[in-house]
Amino acid sequence: MNASHSLIEQAKKTFTPNIAPAPFVVSRGEGSYLYDTEEQKYLDFSSGIAVSNLGHCHPAVVRAIEEQIRKVLHTSTMFWNEPAMKLAIKLKEISFADRVFLCNSGTEANEAKLKITRKYFYDQGKPRIEFISFHKSFHGRTFGSLSGTGQEKYWKGFEPLVPGFKFINFNDISALTAITEQTAGVWVEPIQGEGGVHPATIEFMKALRARCDETGALLLADEIQTGLGRTGSMFAMDFYGVRPDLMSIAKGLGGGLPIGALLASEKIGTTMTVGSHATTFGGNPVCAAAALAVIETINNQEFWRGLRERSEFFWTLLKTRIGSNKRVVDIRGRGLMIGIEFKEDITKIFEQLRAQKVLVTRIPPHILRILPPLTASKQEMEIFVDNMSQALKATEA
Ligand SMILES: *Cc1c(COP(=O)(O)O)cnc(C)c1O
Repeated sequence: MNASHSLIEQAKKTFTPNIAPAPFVVSRGEGSYLYDTEEQKYLDFSSGIAVSNLGHCHPAVVRAIEEQIRKVLHTSTMFWNEPAMKLAIKLKEISFADRVFLCNSGTEANEAKLKITRKYFYDQGKPRIEFISFHKSFHGRTFGSLSGTGQEKYWKGFEPLVPGFKFINFNDISALTAITEQTAGVWVEPIQGEGGVHPATIEFMKALRARCDETGALLLADEIQTGLGRTGSMFAMDFYGVRPDLMSIAKGLGGGLPIGALLASEKIGTTMTVGSHATTFGGNPVCAAAALAVIETINNQEFWRGLRERSEFFWTLLKTRIGSNKRVVDIRGRGLMIGIEFKEDITKIFEQLRAQKVLVTRIPPHILRILPPLTASKQEMEIFVDNMSQALKATEA
């Protein structure tokens, strides 16, 4: 047994067993590839679950981090730091937002979103406590986020949850009548990620905005997975042409470092008064410097043009070479957030791909979720599809 394997054995007995990492140890990453401690090379089309959108160790991100770590690592919000200030101003520039709250993860941005929504109505002397969320949604694992997650499998053993949440069907315009003058906020992922890569239709998103306007409910977009270029535009809501009232982002924001943000309009964002909400690490200068480098890299026409061209190339390859397979039910998503649904349980295909040193994510039992780095080349996309065909052949019944 080599050193890595005995370390894995020890780690398995040491970590709380809520995680099940693949049986190798990552030692480094570069672009679309990860390398293990034995210098085996893996094509990574999981991007650390839509986090490493610029590939692993993108030079611009690494440079920004290197420059910042020599200056200061942490300030807390007792003091201003330049990267956090510049990041908040940049986020305002590239989104609908007037106000920005910086935090450290997706679920933390979502918690802020729920709290601020209730406080917004409370401050007007017309409290509303009800939230509406969608079946098959995913918003995170803390009690608030979990309570708004429309998949009971995540609730098991943790109830009672936070009161006030109701669930309705996604992409069902007739269900939107459940939104009333009692509703504080409606929580929506433009493309449901963990629920199986289900994009909202344009008509549904527009009807949702209209119903929120009629009732005064706030539209709370969760772009933690879809944001920062994953679906082909800076934010998925840009594609719909629908403006949310609050929006949470995280995953791809820090280029691999942990950072989240809540984006808000002026009217709603300013209800977060001094002392009402906070987080010690929020606006961490190293994470903020990384996020600035990510935004700078993607926020230009040349990047979007290249991304769209390569995305279309990948979709065409997938549809012609994988979509034609009888075992495939559907290929859906947008940009480089792609779900491939199979008739069968995908465990074998997933494991075969991993044996071929190709990494993807899965939504058991039927869906493979492909999240390539936004920087993946056409050649890497071809290698992926070749491997996918090979994996399908190798697992034929
Ligand atoms: C990943 C994810 C979250 C949770 O983010 P964490 O950073 O894991 O807390 C919330 N909502 C969506 C849509 C996500 O994809």
